[in-house]
Amino acid sequence: MEVAPRRLCIRVEGVVQGVGYRPFVYALATRLGLVGHVGNDTRGVFIEAEGPPRALDTLVAGLTAAAPPLARVDRVSTTSQPPAGGQSFTIVASRSPGERAVLVAPDAGICVDCRREMADPADRRHRYPFINCTNCGPRFSIVRSTPYDRARTTMAGFLLCAECAGDYADPADRRFHAQPVCCPQCGPRLTLLDGTGLALQGEPVAGAVDRLRRGEIVAVKGLGGFHLAADATDEAAVARLRARKHREERPFALMVSDLAAAGALGEVSDAEATLLTDVAAPIVLLRRRPGARVAQSVAPGSPDLGVMLAYTPLHVLLCAAAGVPLVMTSGNISDEPIAYSDDDALRRLAGLADAFLTSDRPIRTRVDDSVARVARGRPLMLRRSRGHVPRPVTVPWAFPRPVLACGPELKNTFCLATGYNAFVSHHIGDLENYETLQSYLHGITLLAELFDIVPEVIAYDLHPEYLSTKHALECTGELVGVQHHHAHIVSCLADNGVDGPVIGVAFDGLGWGEDGTLWGGEFLVATRAGYQRVAHLSAVPMPGGAQAVRQPWRMAAAHLQAAYGSDLPDVGLAGRHGRRWTDVLAMANAGVSSPRTSSMGRLFDAVASLVGVRDSVSYEGQAAVELEHLVDPAEKGSYPVGVVDGAPRQVCGADLIRAVVADVGRGVAAPVVAARFHQAVADLVVDVCGRTRRERQLNVVALSGGVFQNMVLLDRCVTGLTAAGFEVLTHRTVPPNDGGISLGQAVVAAARAG
Ligand code: ZN
Ligand code: ZN
Ligand code: FE
Repeated sequence: MEVAPRRLCIRVEGVVQGVGYRPFVYALATRLGLVGHVGNDTRGVFIEAEGPPRALDTLVAGLTAAAPPLARVDRVSTTSQPPAGGQSFTIVASRSPGERAVLVAPDAGICVDCRREMADPADRRHRYPFINCTNCGPRFSIVRSTPYDRARTTMAGFLLCAECAGDYADPADRRFHAQPVCCPQCGPRLTLLDGTGLALQGEPVAGAVDRLRRGEIVAVKGLGGFHLAADATDEAAVARLRARKHREERPFALMVSDLAAAGALGEVSDAEATLLTDVAAPIVLLRRRPGARVAQSVAPGSPDLGVMLAYTPLHVLLCAAAGVPLVMTSGNISDEPIAYSDDDALRRLAGLADAFLTSDRPIRTRVDDSVARVARGRPLMLRRSRGHVPRPVTVPWAFPRPVLACGPELKNTFCLATGYNAFVSHHIGDLENYETLQSYLHGITLLAELFDIVPEVIAYDLHPEYLSTKHALECTGELVGVQHHHAHIVSCLADNGVDGPVIGVAFDGLGWGEDGTLWGGEFLVATRAGYQRVAHLSAVPMPGGAQAVRQPWRMAAAHLQAAYGSDLPDVGLAGRHGRRWTDVLAMANAGVSSPRTSSMGRLFDAVASLVGVRDSVSYEGQAAVELEHLVDPAEKGSYPVGVVDGAPRQVCGADLIRAVVADVGRGVAAPVVAARFHQAVADLVVDVCGRTRRERQLNVVALSGGVFQNMVLLDRCVTGLTAAGFEVLTHRTVPPNDGGISLGQAVVAAARAG
């Protein structure tokens, strides 16, 4: 029996442009014998489909279930229409007007099909460094505006040749409507320039590899900016790169050809293999293999190596020809933003690079590499940027008015939010210099334009000296100040789509507290709109302010004095620092240039100094990271820590200090002391959460803040809390560090301002 045809109007929302969604719909609808059309507009993909009801049901179900790899379908809605007939199913041209809520896809690493074609001597894109298709290649980094079309990308200047135009127009082709499609005839070209910017003769990749083999440093233009590349096995080359970049000890990232090469450097679990081969291709922190063939100065003193797989066709060619792991560090001098335009690279990297491997494909937006690791069997984001941005974090609560959250000072990201989407920006960096600030301001303008968001609510950190705060106060809109640690906890709630109230444990370096002291060892009972500080680490002076961050021995002095008063035990620090030691003690005692802090990060610093890990650092968190790495996994001991009840409760950091000093004095090995200290912090977390639960009947704990990048601490906290019957929330898609702050700020501001 013939069933009467029906016609459906279907709307698909989410990341559905630039990811091969229309050809996918075309193929599915054609296979089901449906007629109608599919197209892009500023809200996503629209479809009209007509045919038997059962085929329409299959189509609608398939729109989510069978979507292409780079797509992310958030919503499919349908309305019925009177049948209109038709002969075929077609793809129609983009509609332009209307609101620009459409989501631009993140940049994606090279796919297996493109890899295969590039290796095939018979393919016309054999060894072509800009090969791409619907399933891979540049997206966000080349987009100028939406809807996503070639004319609105930096590929606009490359006219398609006849063959590429054919690929682009053929619904059966993998490159159907792939906006950056190109080939050696019509697409971008590589060039190798010497250190002064003069073009060099010969095949550019081979020329670059020759130079790397000679120990030279080559600036390589990638997807989101320039890297500085060096042979990672060449100690002299890596040391020279460190000296030129003014980067003393912070580890360099490595790039290798494939999973096998990554496995030769570090231990790769199944979860780590999945993370390495993800389309986002992040830098993954791996436990270094003993005897891994890399120069000592790649990651001095670190048991981990940051490794990524070659993710652009150019990287694939380069790594294959080099045959060794390459250092691939961001193309900048220490804290400046990564260079992404040729002019900028030649200007700023002139003294750093001996040669430039570049191309004529412009980068519209700089995007740094993302960094992740596996924690408790699942990915933990440490820097969310290339491959993830601008995909929004979708939250279960609407933003009634558009929000701009200006973010923190260090590891800055900002966030633009509208509807149910929070667009957390690419990694901006530390807002400490002019270049980074400019990059921050440009980034805000670009994303606001891209998503057509005009912020009405402006969220900012309470720290009056943050440049992001100063920017916020110059914006027009309703201003909402958000306490730093509240933002951390709400970021974790948003990351999990869980509503409060919860017990929030926010441990980090420093954040401005409501009482004018610097917080960082905080227990909050938090909802999206507000919080109460129910407990915190006892506060100590931070002698010399920012100097105490660079010199953990100063924090050791302050904590010793808080624990012992004037009768200090001799732990060797006085001998190591001489006159400065007594000066710093006097400074802390008098409270001169010594803001008070309840920071957990600074307590880790103090303990690192007490056990002899290090007295000064060249990057934030270095001492704490080394203390974590020192932990003897076999040691199960802990230290008792007192908690003084009150509002708020005080956690006696002094108990920890006395216990550590006693063990050190007894000659207990540093790895054992480090293990007991970590366990003691986890135990005090369980203790304080337990007390809070009894009073507030709250059973959910959210863990956030940079200190929870510490895998040992995270693991022991989750284990302890779970054993005590708590439900524990940890981060998933945004980092626990300050890179996740802007998401929390946006959600808090919306909850407060409406
Ligand atoms: Zn591809
Ligand atoms: Zn072509
Ligand atoms: Fe923080």
